Amino acid sequence: MPAASDVPIRPLPDTLINQIAAGEVVERPASVVKEIVENALDAGARRVDIDLEDGGTRLIRIRDDGGGIPPGELPLAIQRHATSKIASLDDLEGVATLGFRGEALPSIASVSRFAMTSRCDGADHGTRLEVDGGRVGELAPHPHPRGTTVEVRDLFFNVPARRKFLRAERTELGHIEEWLRQLALSRPDVELRVTHNGRPSRRWKGEGTLLTDVRLHEALGEEFARNALAVDHAAAGLRLHGWIGRPVYNRASADQQYLYVNGRAVRDRSVAHAVKQAYSDVLFHGRQPAYVLFLELDPRRVDVNVHPAKHEVRFRDARLIHDFVFRTLHEALAETRAGMAGGEAL
Ligand code: ADP
Ligand code: MG
Repeated sequence: MPAASDVPIRPLPDTLINQIAAGEVVERPASVVKEIVENALDAGARRVDIDLEDGGTRLIRIRDDGGGIPPGELPLAIQRHATSKIASLDDLEGVATLGFRGEALPSIASVSRFAMTSRCDGADHGTRLEVDGGRVGELAPHPHPRGTTVEVRDLFFNVPARRKFLRAERTELGHIEEWLRQLALSRPDVELRVTHNGRPSRRWKGEGTLLTDVRLHEALGEEFARNALAVDHAAAGLRLHGWIGRPVYNRASADQQYLYVNGRAVRDRSVAHAVKQAYSDVLFHGRQPAYVLFLELDPRRVDVNVHPAKHEVRFRDARLIHDFVFRTLHEALAETRAGMAGGEAL
Protein backbone atom coordinates (compact mmCIF):
# COMPACT_ATOMS: atom_id res chain seq x y z
CA MET A 1 0.00 0.00 0.00
CA PRO A 2 1.38 3.43 -0.90
CA ALA A 3 2.13 5.84 1.93
CA ALA A 4 -0.59 8.43 2.54
CA SER A 5 1.68 11.14 1.14
CA ASP A 6 1.86 9.36 -2.26
CA VAL A 7 -1.90 9.63 -2.73
CA PRO A 8 -3.24 12.90 -4.11
CA ILE A 9 -5.55 14.94 -1.93
CA ARG A 10 -9.10 14.74 -3.25
CA PRO A 11 -12.57 15.64 -2.00
CA LEU A 12 -14.62 12.75 -0.63
CA PRO A 13 -17.85 11.82 -2.40
CA ASP A 14 -21.01 13.20 -0.74
CA THR A 15 -22.35 9.80 0.28
CA LEU A 16 -19.10 8.96 2.04
CA ILE A 17 -19.12 12.34 3.81
CA ASN A 18 -22.65 11.60 5.03
CA GLN A 19 -21.68 8.11 6.14
CA ILE A 20 -18.80 9.52 8.13
CA ALA A 21 -21.15 12.05 9.77
CA ALA A 22 -23.58 9.19 10.45
CA GLY A 23 -20.89 7.66 12.62
CA GLU A 24 -21.45 10.47 15.11
CA VAL A 25 -25.18 11.01 14.81
CA VAL A 26 -26.54 7.51 14.18
CA GLU A 27 -25.34 5.06 16.74
CA ARG A 28 -28.32 2.71 16.74
CA PRO A 29 -32.06 2.62 15.93
CA ALA A 30 -32.84 4.73 19.03
CA SER A 31 -30.74 7.59 17.62
CA VAL A 32 -32.71 7.45 14.37
CA VAL A 33 -35.99 7.57 16.28
CA LYS A 34 -34.68 10.50 18.32
CA GLU A 35 -33.62 12.58 15.32
CA ILE A 36 -36.81 11.94 13.36
CA VAL A 37 -39.17 12.54 16.28
CA GLU A 38 -37.28 15.74 17.11
CA ASN A 39 -37.88 16.91 13.55
CA ALA A 40 -41.59 16.14 13.98
CA LEU A 41 -41.67 18.22 17.17
CA ASP A 42 -39.80 21.07 15.52
CA ALA A 43 -42.48 20.94 12.79
CA GLY A 44 -45.18 21.48 15.42
CA ALA A 45 -46.59 17.93 15.50
CA ARG A 46 -49.35 17.19 18.01
CA ARG A 47 -49.30 13.48 17.36
CA VAL A 48 -46.48 11.17 16.31
CA ASP A 49 -46.95 7.54 15.24
CA ILE A 50 -43.93 5.30 15.47
CA ASP A 51 -43.96 1.86 13.85
CA LEU A 52 -41.02 -0.42 14.48
CA GLU A 53 -39.98 -3.84 13.25
CA ASP A 54 -37.28 -5.98 14.80
CA GLY A 55 -36.29 -3.38 17.36
CA GLY A 56 -36.08 -0.75 14.61
CA THR A 57 -33.32 -2.58 12.75
CA ARG A 58 -35.66 -3.69 9.95
CA LEU A 59 -38.05 -0.74 9.95
CA ILE A 60 -38.58 2.59 11.64
CA ARG A 61 -41.58 4.50 10.26
CA ILE A 62 -42.51 7.78 11.88
CA ARG A 63 -45.51 9.83 10.87
CA ASP A 64 -46.31 13.26 12.19
CA ASP A 65 -49.10 15.80 11.70
CA GLY A 66 -46.77 18.79 11.65
CA GLY A 67 -46.37 21.51 9.05
CA GLY A 68 -44.82 19.34 6.33
CA ILE A 69 -42.29 20.28 3.67
CA PRO A 70 -43.01 22.02 0.34
CA PRO A 71 -42.34 19.55 -2.50
CA GLY A 72 -39.53 21.65 -3.95
CA GLU A 73 -37.69 21.58 -0.62
CA LEU A 74 -37.77 17.81 -0.10
CA PRO A 75 -34.40 17.28 -1.84
CA LEU A 76 -32.92 19.96 0.43
CA ALA A 77 -34.14 18.17 3.55
CA ILE A 78 -31.78 15.30 2.75
CA GLN A 79 -28.92 17.54 1.72
CA ARG A 80 -26.09 18.04 4.18
CA HIS A 81 -26.01 21.28 6.16
CA ALA A 82 -29.37 22.33 4.77
CA THR A 83 -31.80 23.42 7.48
CA SER A 84 -34.85 25.62 7.87
CA LYS A 85 -34.03 26.27 11.54
CA ILE A 86 -31.15 28.71 11.53
CA ALA A 87 -29.74 31.11 8.97
CA SER A 88 -26.98 32.92 10.86
CA LEU A 89 -24.56 32.66 13.75
CA ASP A 90 -26.91 34.91 15.67
CA ASP A 91 -29.76 32.42 15.18
CA LEU A 92 -27.48 29.62 16.32
CA GLU A 93 -26.69 31.43 19.53
CA GLY A 94 -30.35 31.75 20.41
CA VAL A 95 -31.56 28.48 18.89
CA ALA A 96 -34.82 27.21 20.37
CA THR A 97 -35.48 24.24 18.07
CA LEU A 98 -34.20 20.74 18.82
CA GLY A 99 -32.42 20.54 15.46
CA PHE A 100 -30.20 23.07 13.72
CA ARG A 101 -27.25 21.22 12.18
CA GLY A 102 -29.00 19.94 9.05
CA GLU A 103 -27.14 16.66 9.38
CA ALA A 104 -29.54 14.05 10.66
CA LEU A 105 -31.55 13.19 7.56
CA PRO A 106 -28.63 13.02 5.10
CA SER A 107 -26.69 10.90 7.60
CA ILE A 108 -29.57 8.49 8.17
CA ALA A 109 -30.37 8.32 4.45
CA SER A 110 -26.77 7.37 3.67
CA VAL A 111 -26.84 4.25 5.85
CA SER A 112 -30.36 2.90 5.22
CA ARG A 113 -33.12 2.49 2.66
CA PHE A 114 -34.83 5.77 3.33
CA ALA A 115 -38.04 7.42 2.18
CA MET A 116 -39.67 10.69 3.12
CA THR A 117 -43.23 11.63 2.18
CA SER A 118 -44.61 15.01 3.08
CA ARG A 119 -47.47 17.34 2.46
CA CYS A 120 -47.65 20.93 3.58
CA ASP A 121 -50.56 23.35 3.79
CA GLY A 122 -51.59 24.51 0.35
CA ALA A 123 -50.29 21.38 -1.46
CA ASP A 124 -53.05 19.22 -2.95
CA HIS A 125 -51.13 15.99 -2.55
CA GLY A 126 -48.08 14.57 -0.84
CA THR A 127 -44.66 14.11 -2.41
CA ARG A 128 -42.27 11.25 -1.82
CA LEU A 129 -38.53 11.02 -2.12
CA GLU A 130 -36.57 7.77 -1.74
CA VAL A 131 -32.90 7.45 -0.99
CA ASP A 132 -31.17 4.09 -1.12
CA GLY A 133 -27.93 4.04 0.84
CA GLY A 134 -27.29 7.65 -0.19
CA ARG A 135 -28.47 7.29 -3.82
CA VAL A 136 -31.21 9.86 -4.25
CA GLY A 137 -34.28 8.96 -6.35
CA GLU A 138 -36.84 11.13 -8.14
CA LEU A 139 -39.62 13.14 -6.51
CA ALA A 140 -42.96 11.43 -7.00
CA PRO A 141 -46.53 12.35 -6.03
CA HIS A 142 -47.81 10.18 -3.20
CA PRO A 143 -51.01 10.33 -1.16
CA HIS A 144 -50.41 11.73 2.31
CA PRO A 145 -52.35 13.84 4.82
CA ARG A 146 -50.79 17.10 6.07
CA GLY A 147 -47.55 16.20 7.80
CA THR A 148 -44.57 13.99 7.16
CA THR A 149 -43.71 10.29 7.16
CA VAL A 150 -40.13 9.10 7.29
CA GLU A 151 -39.29 5.46 6.70
CA VAL A 152 -35.94 3.96 7.52
CA ARG A 153 -35.46 0.34 6.50
CA ASP A 154 -32.50 -1.96 7.03
CA LEU A 155 -30.39 0.42 9.04
CA PHE A 156 -26.65 0.01 8.30
CA PHE A 157 -27.38 -2.48 5.47
CA ASN A 158 -24.43 -0.96 3.57
CA VAL A 159 -22.14 -0.49 6.58
CA PRO A 160 -21.38 -4.01 7.82
CA ALA A 161 -19.01 -2.72 10.50
CA ARG A 162 -21.89 -0.79 12.10
CA ARG A 163 -24.51 -3.45 11.51
CA LYS A 164 -22.38 -5.86 13.53
CA PHE A 165 -22.81 -3.64 16.58
CA LEU A 166 -26.60 -3.80 16.54
CA ARG A 167 -27.86 -5.76 19.50
CA ALA A 168 -30.80 -8.12 19.99
CA GLU A 169 -34.28 -6.85 19.12
CA ARG A 170 -35.20 -6.46 22.80
CA THR A 171 -32.10 -4.44 23.57
CA GLU A 172 -32.60 -2.04 20.67
CA LEU A 173 -36.30 -1.71 21.53
CA GLY A 174 -35.33 -1.00 25.13
CA HIS A 175 -33.09 1.88 24.02
CA ILE A 176 -35.90 3.31 21.89
CA GLU A 177 -38.39 3.04 24.75
CA GLU A 178 -36.02 4.70 27.18
CA TRP A 179 -35.57 7.59 24.83
CA LEU A 180 -39.34 7.86 24.28
CA ARG A 181 -39.89 7.89 28.04
CA GLN A 182 -37.43 10.77 28.26
CA LEU A 183 -39.35 12.57 25.56
CA ALA A 184 -42.77 11.79 27.04
CA LEU A 185 -41.71 13.45 30.29
CA SER A 186 -40.85 16.69 28.54
CA ARG A 187 -43.67 16.86 26.00
CA PRO A 188 -46.92 15.89 27.70
CA ASP A 189 -48.75 17.95 25.07
CA VAL A 190 -47.83 15.51 22.30
CA GLU A 191 -49.48 12.16 21.72
CA LEU A 192 -47.06 9.33 20.98
CA ARG A 193 -48.14 5.94 19.70
CA VAL A 194 -45.74 3.10 19.23
CA THR A 195 -46.21 -0.26 17.53
CA HIS A 196 -43.65 -3.05 17.41
CA ASN A 197 -43.91 -5.86 14.86
CA GLY A 198 -47.47 -4.79 14.08
CA ARG A 199 -48.69 -4.78 17.69
CA PRO A 200 -49.43 -1.69 19.80
CA SER A 201 -46.62 -1.46 22.33
CA ARG A 202 -46.97 1.93 23.95
CA ARG A 203 -49.25 4.93 23.92
CA TRP A 204 -48.71 8.28 25.57
CA LYS A 205 -51.83 10.39 25.34
CA GLY A 206 -51.42 14.09 24.67
CA GLU A 207 -52.61 15.32 28.03
CA GLY A 208 -51.96 19.00 28.21
CA THR A 209 -49.20 21.49 28.55
CA LEU A 210 -48.05 20.43 31.99
CA LEU A 211 -46.49 17.21 33.07
CA THR A 212 -49.18 15.60 35.22
CA ASP A 213 -48.94 13.04 37.94
CA VAL A 214 -50.43 10.55 35.48
CA ARG A 215 -47.59 10.78 33.02
CA LEU A 216 -45.02 10.97 35.78
CA HIS A 217 -46.50 7.82 37.25
CA GLU A 218 -46.53 6.07 33.87
CA ALA A 219 -42.93 7.01 33.15
CA LEU A 220 -41.24 6.52 36.51
CA GLY A 221 -43.63 4.29 38.38
CA GLU A 222 -46.15 4.69 41.14
CA GLU A 223 -43.55 4.62 43.89
CA PHE A 224 -41.70 7.60 42.50
CA ALA A 225 -44.93 9.53 41.98
CA ARG A 226 -45.94 8.85 45.60
CA ASN A 227 -42.58 10.02 46.91
CA ALA A 228 -42.02 13.00 44.64
CA LEU A 229 -41.60 16.55 45.85
CA ALA A 230 -42.64 19.28 43.44
CA VAL A 231 -39.98 21.92 42.82
CA ASP A 232 -40.45 25.31 41.20
CA HIS A 233 -38.10 28.16 41.82
CA ALA A 234 -36.92 31.13 39.79
CA ALA A 235 -34.07 33.60 40.35
CA ALA A 236 -31.48 35.51 38.31
CA GLY A 237 -33.24 34.69 35.04
CA LEU A 238 -33.13 30.96 35.81
CA ARG A 239 -36.07 28.69 36.53
CA LEU A 240 -35.88 25.16 37.84
CA HIS A 241 -39.03 23.09 38.08
CA GLY A 242 -40.09 19.48 38.14
CA TRP A 243 -40.08 16.66 40.65
CA ILE A 244 -37.45 15.18 42.89
CA GLY A 245 -37.74 11.96 44.85
CA ARG A 246 -37.85 12.10 48.62
CA PRO A 247 -34.71 10.51 50.06
CA VAL A 248 -36.67 7.39 51.07
CA TYR A 249 -37.07 6.74 47.37
CA ASN A 250 -33.53 6.13 46.22
CA ARG A 251 -31.87 3.97 43.59
CA ALA A 252 -28.77 1.85 43.19
CA SER A 253 -28.01 3.56 39.86
CA ALA A 254 -28.64 6.88 38.15
CA ASP A 255 -31.38 5.33 36.02
CA GLN A 256 -34.13 7.80 36.93
CA GLN A 257 -32.38 11.11 36.52
CA TYR A 258 -33.88 13.29 33.84
CA LEU A 259 -32.58 16.76 33.19
CA TYR A 260 -33.92 19.06 30.49
CA VAL A 261 -32.38 22.35 29.55
CA ASN A 262 -34.87 24.50 27.64
CA GLY A 263 -36.79 21.33 26.81
CA ARG A 264 -33.80 19.38 25.52
CA ALA A 265 -32.80 16.25 27.41
CA VAL A 266 -29.13 16.52 28.30
CA ARG A 267 -26.50 15.10 30.58
CA ASP A 268 -24.56 17.67 32.52
CA ARG A 269 -21.87 16.90 35.07
CA SER A 270 -22.11 20.21 36.82
CA VAL A 271 -25.88 20.03 37.37
CA ALA A 272 -25.62 16.35 38.35
CA HIS A 273 -23.00 17.34 40.89
CA ALA A 274 -25.20 20.09 42.31
CA VAL A 275 -28.07 17.62 42.73
CA LYS A 276 -25.78 15.10 44.37
CA GLN A 277 -24.55 17.71 46.80
CA ALA A 278 -28.07 18.78 47.69
CA TYR A 279 -28.83 15.19 48.64
CA SER A 280 -25.48 14.50 50.29
CA ASP A 281 -26.72 14.67 53.86
CA VAL A 282 -30.04 12.89 53.30
CA LEU A 283 -29.01 9.89 51.17
CA PHE A 284 -26.80 6.98 52.09
CA HIS A 285 -23.45 6.94 50.39
CA GLY A 286 -23.62 5.26 47.00
CA ARG A 287 -27.40 5.63 46.63
CA GLN A 288 -28.80 7.76 43.82
CA PRO A 289 -31.71 10.20 43.85
CA ALA A 290 -34.44 10.15 41.21
CA TYR A 291 -35.56 13.34 39.53
CA VAL A 292 -37.20 14.99 36.56
CA LEU A 293 -35.94 18.55 36.36
CA PHE A 294 -36.47 21.28 33.83
CA LEU A 295 -34.01 24.13 33.77
CA GLU A 296 -35.07 27.15 31.79
CA LEU A 297 -32.94 30.11 30.87
CA ASP A 298 -32.30 32.52 28.02
CA PRO A 299 -31.03 30.33 25.13
CA ARG A 300 -28.16 32.79 24.75
CA ARG A 301 -26.80 31.65 28.09
CA VAL A 302 -26.34 28.09 26.92
CA ASP A 303 -24.41 26.65 23.99
CA VAL A 304 -26.17 23.60 22.53
CA ASN A 305 -23.68 23.13 19.71
CA VAL A 306 -21.22 21.05 21.69
CA HIS A 307 -21.81 17.55 20.39
CA PRO A 308 -23.32 16.30 17.09
CA ALA A 309 -25.90 14.20 18.95
CA LYS A 310 -26.61 17.22 21.24
CA HIS A 311 -26.56 15.21 24.47
CA GLU A 312 -24.48 17.90 26.13
CA VAL A 313 -24.62 21.64 26.54
CA ARG A 314 -22.21 24.26 27.79
CA PHE A 315 -23.40 26.96 30.17
CA ARG A 316 -22.00 30.46 29.92
CA ASP A 317 -22.21 30.81 33.71
CA ALA A 318 -21.86 27.24 34.92
CA ARG A 319 -20.95 28.20 38.49
CA LEU A 320 -24.06 30.32 38.95
CA ILE A 321 -26.25 27.53 37.61
CA HIS A 322 -24.58 24.94 39.81
CA ASP A 323 -25.26 27.04 42.90
CA PHE A 324 -28.81 27.84 41.85
CA VAL A 325 -29.64 24.14 41.38
CA PHE A 326 -27.94 23.22 44.64
CA ARG A 327 -29.74 25.87 46.65
CA THR A 328 -33.14 25.19 45.09
CA LEU A 329 -32.96 21.47 45.85
CA HIS A 330 -31.35 21.89 49.25
CA GLU A 331 -34.28 24.10 50.18
CA ALA A 332 -36.83 21.69 48.69
CA LEU A 333 -35.32 18.87 50.73
CA ALA A 334 -35.44 20.89 53.97
CA GLU A 335 -38.68 19.26 55.12
CA THR A 336 -37.18 15.79 54.75
CA ARG A 337 -34.10 16.92 56.64
CA ALA A 338 -36.27 18.26 59.48
CA GLY A 339 -38.03 14.90 59.59
CA MET A 340 -34.72 13.06 59.84
CA ALA A 341 -33.35 15.28 62.55
CA GLY A 342 -36.50 14.64 64.58
CA GLY A 343 -36.07 10.93 64.07
CA GLU A 344 -32.50 11.01 65.28
CA ALA A 345 -33.44 12.96 68.40
CA LEU A 346 -35.79 10.19 69.54
P1 ADP B 1 -32.18 19.86 11.27
O1 ADP B 1 -33.26 19.27 12.10
O2 ADP B 1 -30.91 20.04 12.07
O3 ADP B 1 -32.59 21.11 10.56
P2 ADP B 1 -32.45 17.48 9.63
O4 ADP B 1 -31.50 16.79 8.72
O5 ADP B 1 -32.95 16.70 10.80
O6 ADP B 1 -31.75 18.82 10.13
O7 ADP B 1 -33.69 18.00 8.78
C1 ADP B 1 -33.47 18.87 7.68
C2 ADP B 1 -34.66 19.78 7.41
O8 ADP B 1 -35.75 19.00 6.93
C3 ADP B 1 -35.20 20.49 8.63
O9 ADP B 1 -34.52 21.71 8.88
C4 ADP B 1 -36.67 20.72 8.26
O10 ADP B 1 -36.81 21.89 7.48
C5 ADP B 1 -36.99 19.55 7.36
N1 ADP B 1 -37.71 18.48 8.08
C6 ADP B 1 -37.20 17.32 8.53
N2 ADP B 1 -38.14 16.57 9.12
C7 ADP B 1 -39.29 17.27 9.04
C8 ADP B 1 -40.64 17.01 9.47
N3 ADP B 1 -40.97 15.89 10.10
N4 ADP B 1 -41.57 17.97 9.21
C9 ADP B 1 -41.23 19.11 8.56
N5 ADP B 1 -39.99 19.39 8.13
C10 ADP B 1 -39.02 18.49 8.36
MG1 MG C 1 -33.27 17.32 12.82
